[in-house]
Amino acid sequence: DDEDVHPSVSPQGSVLDSWGNKKWGDTASYVAKKKLQSWFQTSDGNWELAKILSITGSESLISFSEGKVSKVNSDSLLPANPEILDGVDDLMQLSYLNEPSVLYNLQYRYDRDMIYSKAGPVLVAINPFKKIPLYGSDYIEAYKSKSIDSPHVYAIADTAIREMIRGFLNVSLLYGESGAGKTETAKIAMQYLAALGGGSGIEYEILKTNPILEAFGNAKTSRNNNSSRFGKLIEIHFSETGKISGAKIQTFLLEKSRVVQCTEGERSYHSFYQLCAGAPPSLREKLKLKSANEYKYLQQSTCYSINGVDDAEEFRVVVEALDAVHVSKENQENAFAMLAAVLWLGNVTFSIVDNENHVEPVIDEALLNVAQLIGCEADDLKLALSTRKMKVNNDIIVQKLTLAQATDTRDALAKSIYSCLFDWLVEQINKSLAVGKRRTGRSISILDIYGFESFDVNSFEQFCINYANERLQQHFNRHLFKLEQEEYIQDGIDWAKVEFEDNQDCLNLFEKKPLGLLTLLDEESTFPNGTDMTFATKLKQHLKTNSCFRGERGKAFTVYHYAGEVMYDTSGFLEKNRDFLHLDSIQLLSSCTCELPQAFASNLLSLSEKAVLGPLHKSGGADSQKLSVVTKFKGQLFQLMQRLESTTPHFIRCIKPNNSQSPGIYHQGLVLQQLRCCGVLEVVRISRSGFPTRMSHQKFARRYGFLLLEHVAIQDPLSVSVAILHQFDILPEMYQIGYTKLFFRTGQIGKLEDTRNRT
Ligand code: ATP
Ligand code: MG
Repeated sequence: DDEDVHPSVSPQGSVLDSWGNKKWGDTASYVAKKKLQSWFQTSDGNWELAKILSITGSESLISFSEGKVSKVNSDSLLPANPEILDGVDDLMQLSYLNEPSVLYNLQYRYDRDMIYSKAGPVLVAINPFKKIPLYGSDYIEAYKSKSIDSPHVYAIADTAIREMIRGFLNVSLLYGESGAGKTETAKIAMQYLAALGGGSGIEYEILKTNPILEAFGNAKTSRNNNSSRFGKLIEIHFSETGKISGAKIQTFLLEKSRVVQCTEGERSYHSFYQLCAGAPPSLREKLKLKSANEYKYLQQSTCYSINGVDDAEEFRVVVEALDAVHVSKENQENAFAMLAAVLWLGNVTFSIVDNENHVEPVIDEALLNVAQLIGCEADDLKLALSTRKMKVNNDIIVQKLTLAQATDTRDALAKSIYSCLFDWLVEQINKSLAVGKRRTGRSISILDIYGFESFDVNSFEQFCINYANERLQQHFNRHLFKLEQEEYIQDGIDWAKVEFEDNQDCLNLFEKKPLGLLTLLDEESTFPNGTDMTFATKLKQHLKTNSCFRGERGKAFTVYHYAGEVMYDTSGFLEKNRDFLHLDSIQLLSSCTCELPQAFASNLLSLSEKAVLGPLHKSGGADSQKLSVVTKFKGQLFQLMQRLESTTPHFIRCIKPNNSQSPGIYHQGLVLQQLRCCGVLEVVRISRSGFPTRMSHQKFARRYGFLLLEHVAIQDPLSVSVAILHQFDILPEMYQIGYTKLFFRTGQIGKLEDTRNRT
């Protein structure tokens, strides 16, 4: 009977686009006829469930659950799923995969503390901002024995372990914006791996790397009280028997600027506050420590503490962790001395010494303390902070610095000491966790890297971060398409390649030589007269015809990223990219009697030497030359991508449900924006361009077989399935029969479900 003909199998062909978002006129009349639920978007942008009572022309009469009736434009309605599909584990099980349906399903689960869901191959994790009872040994045991199969990080980690045992390299990739829960999720995954692969004791050390890296690389920001200001890849190695044998950590692009500047309401790195609050008296004495609010670098924000966090207690946790990864007490003290040196450097002040506005540092407590902490003469430090040696022709001349130059020099030194300290710590950790010769090639890695960022003002940091995300997105897309295609091919169905949006054009905008964003930035960074303005002008001049680029007024430009357009302000780009530390400062460090500054200097020098072969070898004076920040970052990313190519990926998308870090609040708009940004809806779209609904012959026959009007004698599942398809007039272009499964286009199962429910 024609009443049952599902709209998306109307003779005109599908009326739904791949999102189920538009042109759903026929579906709407079907939904109206059946008095099924549909979604109505209210003026605040939220979606509400409503019943269509009638349709006249382009208008629909709808009623809301509280009884209110409204006349609305039919275009503002979208089909809702039958109730049986409320809160399904996997978004792919939804008949209608439009945005409100996805949002509703995730919220339905979130409200019931089911923070994990699947979107096909992707695990979606919504930050609960509270303790939820889904973790610990009972749950670990349950996932291990497979007595639970609801989506969970543990399930992902378990799959990774199984694949690893079969000899594959695995990587879990965490995506999501700041505060979405990447770092917490990574720790939960590590706990599972440690529980299953533990025994040697090394798992304990691996877990202890977290408090160390968080102390030195995380800070309170306006969006997250424990925001990672660096990217991290941890590679955990296993023996043949599946026991953890070691690990290796690689870090990406620590945000250095935070050491010397930080905005109101945010903090610098936790390590500073922990040291000031938690150092025992003898250490305080040695490092001349004062409380955090006496240091200028920390005073820039009046925020010194975090709700619910005891910095002194955290200091003890970090010390215990450093012990665990075998950093000697002496080295721990050396490291803390570097922190104190950075803090005291910030208190160094300058006074004008001649009538050309040249300055010298004031010899006071701050300067003397820095000199003592790094192990140099106060006079040498004074000289390094107020003069610069320059090579003119073949002579070395000494140039005196102005206040601005001296302050920059001081801050550059502080930033360098801190980032070298961070790298040094990672190196110590890696030594302690070294896998050694018993490498088996079996490993599970976890990538916790900053997500796509778009603020009112976007700077060099966002530029690098978004570039990285563009690369990762491409890996994500390509992998998912490959998976899709493989499944079709495996099941022997005919599937013309589906078009998919690649972001290659945007990557080209960044990487193309000689006229890509990165090359142009590097080039401008080496020109002595290059400024942020000349850089911006050059971009506009060379890239104006690029479809992913738009020049803006003044020093700004816009990039059309896969996740949306972002306007960048080039202020500070060149300086941050050069990341200069003058040779004078490096020489000062290498002349120090303390071990760490010397080690830092030799690292900084070897970087400069290496760079002679790099792209930035145009020499400028006696200054050190090293790889630019973007060049180094691009190198790291390429290495990472190469590694990912040969690795089985597991995708985890973390979602932040509100901006106030509070439990129980689910902002539809905010969630939607992230789903769009991080590609979850894209996955859905990709799948919908093919045959998103799959069911085995057996399951299909079992579920719908009883609807058959003519009861045929017991038959094999495939014949039963075919009979059902015929009875319901499902058009041939709407399904494919594979060797093991039936594949359906969007919306087909919904109709069968309706009939089934009414029967
Ligand atoms: P950033 O990019 O800024 O580093 P992130 O994605 O790493 O952010 P997290 O630091 O992991 O975010 O999470 C932010 C906060 O959210 C945590 O400090 C914790 O309070 C809470 N949180 C995240 N995941 C969970 C969870 N599974 N259970 C309980 N609380 C969580
Ligand atoms: Mg983090």
